Amino acid sequence: MIVAIYPGSFDPITNGHLDIIDRARKIFDHLIVAVLQNPNKVPLFSAEERKRMIEEAVADFPNVAVEVFDGLLVHFARSRGCRVILRGLRAISDYEYETQIALTNRKMAPEIETIFLPTSTEYSYLNSTVVKEIARFGGCVRGLVPPGVERRLREKFSSVPR
Ligand code: ADP
Repeated sequence: MIVAIYPGSFDPITNGHLDIIDRARKIFDHLIVAVLQNPNKVPLFSAEERKRMIEEAVADFPNVAVEVFDGLLVHFARSRGCRVILRGLRAISDYEYETQIALTNRKMAPEIETIFLPTSTEYSYLNSTVVKEIARFGGCVRGLVPPGVERRLREKFSSVPR
């Protein structure tokens, strides 16, 4: 049984993330989407909100679970019996950063392999920051994020001055 972990900020989850999850769930026996509570970043959504939005989006995927974690990813991965860390790659520019992290994680936990999945072309430009910028200024994010995220972005920014 191969358990994989897909870590990230997911602030908020986009259809690019969801595409990676949908493809990975067909490869691995069990997939844990791990929402990082990062003390160095001030997120738009709390970790619990981010988790809830992912849970709604993956409700039809029986072998996918969502958890919040803090601290070192490899410690969390070990505690869940994960053998694979999954990351998505968009452009070549992702590669350098991702390789550095993957090698660092392997140094700490040689039994865990990092696997990269390339993005689907239609999502190669998409990230959470772009989505937040569009929503902040009243643009339409339909098709870029799951419907529950679209709604919450609208709620969030309707109360915030631009
Ligand atoms: P982090 O802050 O850890 O980079 P993100 O939430 O931005 O967290 O991304 C989590 C993972 O999803 C990363 O591996 C990232 O490369 C990948 N990812 C983000 N957007 C896309 C996309 N549009 N297509 C494929 N992978 C993506």
